[in-house]
Amino acid sequence: MDRIYFDNAASTPLDPAVLASMMPFLSEQFGNPSSIYSYGRETRMAIEQARKSVAKNLGARTAEIFFTSGGTESSNTILYAAIENLNCTHIITTPIEHHATLNTVQHLAKKDAIQLSYVNILPNGHIDLAHLETLLTNNTEKTIVSIMHANNEIGNMIDLFEVGSICKKHQAYFHSDTVQTVGHFPFDLSNTPVDFITGSSHKFHGPKGIGILYINENIKITPYIHGGAQERNMRAGTENVYGIVGFAKALDLATIQHEKDSEYIQSLKKYMYDLLLEKIPETNFNGDPFGKSLYNLLSVNFPKSEKTEMILFNLDIHHICASGGSACSSGAQQGSHVIQALKKEHQWATIRFSFSKYNTKSEIDTVVNTLARLL
Ligand code: PLP
Repeated sequence: MDRIYFDNAASTPLDPAVLASMMPFLSEQFGNPSSIYSYGRETRMAIEQARKSVAKNLGARTAEIFFTSGGTESSNTILYAAIENLNCTHIITTPIEHHATLNTVQHLAKKDAIQLSYVNILPNGHIDLAHLETLLTNNTEKTIVSIMHANNEIGNMIDLFEVGSICKKHQAYFHSDTVQTVGHFPFDLSNTPVDFITGSSHKFHGPKGIGILYINENIKITPYIHGGAQERNMRAGTENVYGIVGFAKALDLATIQHEKDSEYIQSLKKYMYDLLLEKIPETNFNGDPFGKSLYNLLSVNFPKSEKTEMILFNLDIHHICASGGSACSSGAQQGSHVIQALKKEHQWATIRFSFSKYNTKSEIDTVVNTLARLL
């Protein structure tokens, strides 16, 4: 039986066209890009073409794009540099960031005695921007604000312009974890008040282990990983050439197909939302599903019962892949810090469903009917 994959916020299947673009660099074009002979020059050229293409698709300058191993490394690079190079002594973030940010800022706060503040979260999961303003107004320290563009568990989005403008007004640096939005939304970084963003290609049908870091051209930092002179002395280590080529191809396809794919995926989300309410009326949803939200993600709450204890396991038995995230910490299942931050009155069994261009309405019919039987 075919599996139904509804966990595209975790990772996405590789697009065959992306794989095809990578294949030469997994076979005959194997040269080290730092080598001066033709094998090296060919792979060097592929990297620089990829960088140009990524920059163009994000509305950035070529020199502002650095390739890394993924979103985690990109965010670590910036948060460390904020303290070491930009003299920040205060980090403002939110309690619902991905652990790539949250664990890093907590580590830095402890290690370097940095002030750490959290912006309040509203009941619908949005960031309390009035509180951000207050934190910045009362602030006397050099500060970096790190707030994710879209939350990977509930899908809520911020307006990069709005948050970036607030940061600018208060002379704070602004870093945004855009791992869930690069490859899903158009960007024009030349016109966006953000200093640093991140991306990871396995979230948009590219390969794993390859990411980008955008650093605004007016800001100079030193590397996080030391060693060779790769990435213009900003990220040492022999380049992941096939990953870089795959990243650029995946972003190019995502950009070209954005309108068609996003409309289709949004229709899947709405279809599942309506069907869940029809077949399991006690269902409710986290976040702001049809407001400022990812079009490919639905965070669903079911009343807690004996049956929901094993729901992900039972879905797996029915060949359905989705991910969990309830508020409590019970046994092996760690509670979700994001759902906890929503401070719900009741405890729910939460399942995150996230879709891609490869999903269909008939898969949604199967999943909702299976849920209705299991719950
Ligand atoms: N930030 C967000 C919002 C994510 O969803 C993820 C991936 O799960 C990451 C960061 C980490 O990215 P990577 O796995 O490429 O390091």
